[in-house]
Amino acid sequence: MTRDQVLQIMKENNILPEAGFGQNFLCDEEIINGIIDAAGIKPGDTVLEIGPGIGALTQILSSLDINLICVEIDKRLVSYLRKAYPDTRIIDSDFLKLRDYGAEKIDVVISNLPYYIMTDIMMKVFEEAVNARKIVYMVEEAALDRILCESSTKSYGPLAVVSELYGNIRVVTKVPGTCFVPQPRTTSAVISFDCHDNRPDKDLIVFIKKCFAQRRKTLSNNLKGCDKDKLSKWVKDNFIVENIRAEALEPTDFRDLYNTLK
Ligand code: SAM
Repeated sequence: MTRDQVLQIMKENNILPEAGFGQNFLCDEEIINGIIDAAGIKPGDTVLEIGPGIGALTQILSSLDINLICVEIDKRLVSYLRKAYPDTRIIDSDFLKLRDYGAEKIDVVISNLPYYIMTDIMMKVFEEAVNARKIVYMVEEAALDRILCESSTKSYGPLAVVSELYGNIRVVTKVPGTCFVPQPRTTSAVISFDCHDNRPDKDLIVFIKKCFAQRRKTLSNNLKGCDKDKLSKWVKDNFIVENIRAEALEPTDFRDLYNTLK
């Protein structure tokens, strides 16, 4: 979809981008094709697209031999998409509130993410799309640091830990603001996850979030209610010092500690 096509669809359907929904529509065919290629979609796959907008990715996805499910919050866009892609399932919903959408059947997740809820969407997908093979997101370049950072850094938290445990992450390409209508001031990046078979399940993800619940507090304070003797022994065996915070743990340590405390 080119810039002229995006502008024409917006004009014909009386759609002004809604900043509150993080609407920056992709208008660069090379980037659009690059996202689709990175998703490694196979015939027969079930593909979830979160936030299809005016269909930059949907246009291509809907032409493939796949089961496509799109979830869009903006009712104006939902009614446009249902007209333009009558054979595609367009769910009219806030993805964060969506239940019973067949998450466990999804093979591939693809989204030019609304940046204001990037973390919440990523964590929901990690928790629910438990059999996904591949996930491809467009994110703000500045947010890469929160996904790819090392332990003991300021940005290190549940998102980085779960991302690292979930799959091999690759930065596919950087995307300048000129590739969107309207143009954001920031640069974006496309990332892909090749999902591991032994990815963290929902209980482990909840545990990781609990470990970081209050960043300034020690692990022991955040894990009230757990077996304190087991925790204390695990910390001493692995770290020598006792009063450590979650930020000191490597991603695999969280799995180890979770299994120890189970
Ligand atoms: N996929 C389109 C593209 O690449 O041009 C649009 C991407 S735009 C950055 C983000 C899209 O997510 C918008 O269509 C917006 O309305 C939608 N969106 C925002 N919040 C959402 C939510 N909570 N649930 C579902 N869709 C949402």
